[in-house]
Amino acid sequence: MMIVMKQDATQEQIEAVVARVEGAGARAHRINGEELTVIGAVGDREHIQRLELEGAAGVDRLVPILKPYKLASSQIRHAEPSVLDIGGRKIGGSNFALIAGPCTVESREQTLGTARIVKDAGATLFRGGAYKPRTSPYAFSGLGQEGLRLLAEAKEETGLPIVTELMDVRDLEPVLEVADVIQVGARNMQNYTLLTELGRAGRPVLLKRGLSATLEELLMASEYILKEGNESVMLCERGIRTFETAYRFTLDLMAVPVLKGLTHLPIIVDPSHAAGRRDLVTPLSLAAAAVGADGIIVEVHPDPDEAICDGPQQLVADEFAEYAARVEQAAAVAGKAFSAVA
Ligand code: PEP
Ligand code: MN
Repeated sequence: MMIVMKQDATQEQIEAVVARVEGAGARAHRINGEELTVIGAVGDREHIQRLELEGAAGVDRLVPILKPYKLASSQIRHAEPSVLDIGGRKIGGSNFALIAGPCTVESREQTLGTARIVKDAGATLFRGGAYKPRTSPYAFSGLGQEGLRLLAEAKEETGLPIVTELMDVRDLEPVLEVADVIQVGARNMQNYTLLTELGRAGRPVLLKRGLSATLEELLMASEYILKEGNESVMLCERGIRTFETAYRFTLDLMAVPVLKGLTHLPIIVDPSHAAGRRDLVTPLSLAAAAVGADGIIVEVHPDPDEAICDGPQQLVADEFAEYAARVEQAAAVAGKAFSAVA
């Protein structure tokens, strides 16, 4: 239920409504819009209705949220998009985030070298995996804590905030020391205990769409994080399984405008994992930016032929500046500009 407060509602009236909602065992999420305050009451619908808030001091009207996802719904924010602040860089609204870096942290030279190049080309955030989900249990699974240390060094040197994946909640503490954004990989999209812990941890989350997940399932997964009070969530389309076998996954670009109608959360596109091939990454990136994505997360490596994982899809670092300039133009088509440090 959305409780829309009157434009002239006082702080006391708002707090009184919050207290009544919470007193009924529901959660009250305050959304302070530019003109008015909305309180999202999430919990047992009947309990909330029994509070009879219609006509209470300062309350304008009650609007039921009909979708199964409540806090992710665009309805709750009156269609105003969420704008996240990641270390002074804005993501969402008219801000475009270019998140770039290697698939996995391999060495100091590879990590710092890539970080310098993507920073100079205008990237907003630096990505790199220290804990890698691999199809084969025999494949390299990341440098772990040593990888996190190298990411910290890259951040120290370039100032770029770090996006890195957390696979197992037992690694949360060390990851929190370094990550500005914690990535939840496609294979963990429905790991509900992990999502709940990340909701409690409060650090911004980049939630990737599962290989066969519907948009509603993705939104319901984000709800697990939001429900714990963590409002900094971005969703990521990274390709889904279809009957097509000519490429690795099918990048569902229609998801971008459709999600924008359903949710206020920023939408990021990952062309690298969808394509699995470098030659497709630039055209898909341009399409994603032009269709209105709030950002791209893309893999870059100084020498992709030597990469430990995902070599065929990683952009060549030396070519990244040209790529970034083209993405910037495509983002401008959709009315967005690369976010700079505030
Ligand atoms: C990744 O971003 O490195 C990754 C493994 O992505 P996904 O979870 O989308 O496969
Ligand atoms: Mn990868």
